[in-house]
This record gives sequence, structure tokens and C-alpha cells, in this order.
Amino acid sequence: MTCSFSFEEMEIQKTVRKFVTNEILPNRGEIEKTGCLPAVTLNKFLGLELLKIYFPEKYGGSKGSFTGLVIAAKELGYGSFVPAMMLTQNALVGWVLLNYGSDSVKKDYLPSLISLKTSGGFAFTESQTGSDPKQLQTVARKVDGGWLLNGSKRFITFSKIGKYIIIFAKTGDQVSAFLVNSADPEYEPGKREVFFHMPFLDNGDIYLKNCFVPDDHVLGQVGQGFEILLKAEAMGKIVFCAEYIGLAERAVDLALKYAKEKEHRGVPIAVKFQLIQGKLGIMAVRLAAMNALLFATSAKVDLGEKISIDSARLKILVAEDVKQITATAMEIHGAYGLSTEFDISSLYQHAISAQVVMGVSDIQRVIVARQLLGQGSCRS
Ligand SMILES: Cc1cc2nc3c(=O)[nH]c(=O)nc-3n(C[C@H](O)[C@H](O)[C@H](O)COP(=O)(O)OP(=O)(O)OC[C@H]3O[C@@H](n4cnc5c(N)ncnc54)[C@H](O)[C@@H]3O)c2cc1C
Repeated sequence: MTCSFSFEEMEIQKTVRKFVTNEILPNRGEIEKTGCLPAVTLNKFLGLELLKIYFPEKYGGSKGSFTGLVIAAKELGYGSFVPAMMLTQNALVGWVLLNYGSDSVKKDYLPSLISLKTSGGFAFTESQTGSDPKQLQTVARKVDGGWLLNGSKRFITFSKIGKYIIIFAKTGDQVSAFLVNSADPEYEPGKREVFFHMPFLDNGDIYLKNCFVPDDHVLGQVGQGFEILLKAEAMGKIVFCAEYIGLAERAVDLALKYAKEKEHRGVPIAVKFQLIQGKLGIMAVRLAAMNALLFATSAKVDLGEKISIDSARLKILVAEDVKQITATAMEIHGAYGLSTEFDISSLYQHAISAQVVMGVSDIQRVIVARQLLGQGSCRS
């Protein structure tokens, strides 16, 4: 799929593609088993300075386009979710600090997050809720010079390895966002979650017991937390969807390769069976649609336009199509598709998480439907 990328964006695509081809794909099995990049690969990855693309020079960035960041995420998703998630997590946390952090917070924390040398986390979900802010039970109580946080969080990515964690907590009837350093003794990573779709992922509970957060570590205004959550997720969904589209592209490439190599009575199944061709055709159409919506949405971010509905739409499409594409690619592989020796099985495993993480699909559908109902017509 060709989009009208700038020269810089095409260079990003070329560079990350080369890195993934040479450094990630040959070691993908080991990387996904351990959840870590080997030291040499990690150094090369950090050397690419991918998150700098989008952030201002003042904090160590290079102030490129958001589309450039999305391209990088998609190329990493083609290779492995291990480096891709390092980028997405810090993009999300960095975006919140950039837009809602005090000057000192930006100065103190953004450079290391942008360099990807430290990781961040974003903690909203609790045992009682993943979607409804009214049910949050973590509370922040005002004390002299700051706030005391008490409560627990669940399913938080990088809750153990992450250094700077954004915690959403109730302040009276409202929700506020706080920046917590996980080195704080009152921050305790709890039970670890082992997800079958990505067993390597550092994800789990956080316990907060009288965790002190100074006033200047409140992000935005007190009570602005839910707005921050929605805006950050709207941006995060785009980067997140880019990774999954990269994953789907790999699934299609693997299916293509298999269909050209696997023979039936001396003829490749891609040539012999029109039903295989039909599957490949539909996968290509789904990819084209996802890419078109992805880059139309990222272009809106670059133009400073609102994207809350667009990113919900994108997420619905990607969650469904990536699941379908990886399932079809597995089907083309026959029994080999189910073998853990073939990457296609782990791509399918990863793909099914797209419908839950960063906002369940049902809620995305509700967001889109409400806008449609308000507008009264699907024609803008
Ligand atoms: C791998 C992974 C990583 C994660 N990382 C993080 C993280 O870093 N930070 C974080 O805060 N959370 C994280 N989560 C949690 C995730 O965001 C939540 O699990 C998700 O938002 C769903 O919340 P829930 O499980 O409580 O489901 P619920 O919100 O309870 O939903 C349960 C069911 O009800 C439906 N439903 C709920 N509300 C509505 C509604 N209003 N309209 C229609 N249907 C509805 C849903 O579709 C779903 O089918 C992660 C989860 C996973 C699996």
C-alpha cells in the first residue's frame, strides 16, 4: 500500500524495516519467549531513537510527524511486540506528560522516556472496572504539599519494570491523574498476570498505600483525569492499531510464502486452489482498508484535528480484521498453522488481544454510534 509519505517518513520506514529484518525476525522466537531484546539488539534499537520522532527538541525529540511514529510502530509490529510495546507504552505516557505535565515534570521525566531508556506505565483499570471511571476505588486525599494515594490497580502493563507510572484516582466525585515513581516504597507491584496471548508481557497489580504525590505531579487540573484518559487513549489507539496492522502484514506474508511453497500433487496450493487465492485476496483487501484508515487518522493528528471518533472507528476495524487475517493465514498453513514452530500461531495469539486492550470493542462501537446518532446521518 502506498501512501503519500514525506521523505523523512519514508526514511523511517526503510530504517525500521531494515532493523526488523536483520535484528528482530531472525531472533523472534527467543525475543518473544523472554520478553527482552538481547543486549546488542537493544542497543541498536535504542540507537534508532524512534520515540524522538514525535516529541519536541526541547525534551530531546526531533519534532517530526505523528505519522512518522505510526510508521515506526507498524514496522516494529511486523517483527515482534516486544520492541513495539516499549514504543507504545512510552508514547502514551510521554504524550500525557507533554500535554498535561508541569514544566518540571516535563523537564525531569520526558527525556529519559523519549530515549526509551526508562519505561512508563498507565494505570486506570482496577479489579472492579476497566471501562467505567465511576467505579474507580483508588482514592487520592489532599495533604500538605501533595496527595496521598490509596488503592490498587489491575492488569497494568509494565507495572513492575516501568519507572514512571500514571495513576488515575478518585478525588471526590471526579477522577484525577498523578505521576508516581515506582521506586517509591509505597508503590508495590503485586500479583503478576500471565496472559495466554502474550505470556512474556510484564503486566500485573499495583498496590498503593499512603503513596505521597507532590502537587506538581498532578497531571492537568485536579478533576481532569477522565478527560486525560480519553484523549490519551484516542492517541494511543492509533499507535497501538499500527502495531497490529504490522502483525497482520506479517501474517499475510507468511501465508503467501506457505501457499507458494506447499504443493498439492506437484503444484503449489496458491496456484492450484482458487479458494486459497480467494483467501489471499480478501486478506489483501482488509489490509488495504486498515492502512487507509490508519494513515487518514494519523494525518488528522498531524493537522491538529480531533480524532476521538476516528480512533474508535480504526480500533473496531483493526480488532476485527487482524483477528480474521491471522485466523485465515493459520488456515492456509493447515496443521502447521497450529504448530508453535511456526510464527503464525503466535501472531494469531497476539491478534485476539486487540479487541480488549486500550478500550474494549463494544465501547468503541458505542462511541461511534453515539456520534452517528448525534449527527443524524452517516453523511458528513
Ligand atoms: C494485555 C493487557 C494489557 C492491559 N494493560 C493495561 C494498562 O496498562 N493499563 C490499564 O489501565 N489497563 C490495562 N488493561 C486492562 C484493559 O484496559 C481492560 O481489561 C479493558 O479496558 C476491559 O476492562 P474489563 O476487563 O474490566 O472489562 P469490562 O469493562 O468490565 O467489560 C466487560 C464486558 O462488558 C462490556 N462492556 C463494558 N462496558 C460497556 C459499555 N459501556 N457498553 C457496552 N459494553 C460494555 C465489554 O465489552 C466486555 O465485553 C490491560 C488488559 C490486557 C488484557
